Amino acid sequence: MVRVHNFNAGPAVLPAAVLRQVQDELVILPGQGMSVMEMSHRSAAFDAIMDKAESGLRNLLGLSNDYAVLFLQGGASLQFSMVPMNLLRDIPQGEPGADFLVTGSWGTKAYKEAGREGSARIAATTKKDGFNRVPLATELDLEPRARYVHYVSNETIEGVQWRGEPDTAGVPLVCDASSDILSRPLDIAKYGLIFAGAQKNIGPSGVTVVIIRKDWIHERPALPTMLSFDTHYKDRSLYNTPNTFGIYMIGLVCDWIHGLGGLAGMERRAEAKAALLYDVIDGSDFYTGHAQFESRSRMNVTWRLPTEELESRFEKESRALGFIGLKGHRSVGGLRASIYNALEPESVLELAYFMKDFEARA
Ligand code: PMP
Repeated sequence: MVRVHNFNAGPAVLPAAVLRQVQDELVILPGQGMSVMEMSHRSAAFDAIMDKAESGLRNLLGLSNDYAVLFLQGGASLQFSMVPMNLLRDIPQGEPGADFLVTGSWGTKAYKEAGREGSARIAATTKKDGFNRVPLATELDLEPRARYVHYVSNETIEGVQWRGEPDTAGVPLVCDASSDILSRPLDIAKYGLIFAGAQKNIGPSGVTVVIIRKDWIHERPALPTMLSFDTHYKDRSLYNTPNTFGIYMIGLVCDWIHGLGGLAGMERRAEAKAALLYDVIDGSDFYTGHAQFESRSRMNVTWRLPTEELESRFEKESRALGFIGLKGHRSVGGLRASIYNALEPESVLELAYFMKDFEARA
């Protein structure tokens, strides 16, 4: 059997070269005589694996020593709670807490969770437009004294992505970058915290990367030990047993990205792939993109067909030809092609051909 065209939203396609290396090393990691999954997380050898993953991310993103990199568990979803627990709970009642820019399903969830922990307000939302765009600068109702502004750089379900960082007039950003991290360079100085589940662009599921300004890490004795960033920072993500295999793979994925020109290389690759699909959508009266032009995502391309019956036929026929994962999220419907870093341009080109062919036959 050959590898399919994998358009899954996450867990998602991983670089084939990385998977082959993992396969080669799976039973006996060179020099170790055992699998990475059988090693102690407290061994010198695992320390080196952790260092490799951390320095890989640091080099790609250009992180200075002002930022810590943590490898946690609980998914990006736990960060919806952990971030406000650590950053909002000490703010006195009535004082500003976090501002949220809500552009889709994940931002909606994060806002709801933050409200349980402290003061959270919506500074902008595009809900009334069906989350088909990011807000304009003039639509942001920002509180200048907010501790941070939370936004989701790429809304995975709707396929809505910010082109660059929102302008918050100096208020630091907290970003859920789960579905577009490592797909382009970031202006790191604007961020207080970035979190991402690994299972789209960084590695396998089960590990969550948190990048946090060190001066944002404080002892939080009132929190459960496992939910305090301070715990994981002090113990270098080894307070408890981390996802050792996931961290190992992150190091390999970073090497792979580095070999393809780093984040600038990934950005060019993502733009070229996305353009293949948007060109088909733009050139057709048959397909309708969900996201507005300036907000459309280079990671998750979402579109509709004239009827649900045609959408279902499209999905079925494409699946039979080896295009996997194209069914849109149940909340939005339609089709969605997740075209993360590791997806080869050839897969996207094949899908563009299929779309044209399907339209001609429909
Ligand atoms: N945020 C975004 C933008 C996502 O795409 C996802 C997962 N699809 C999540 C958060 C939730 O991540 P997890 O399943 O790792 O909790």
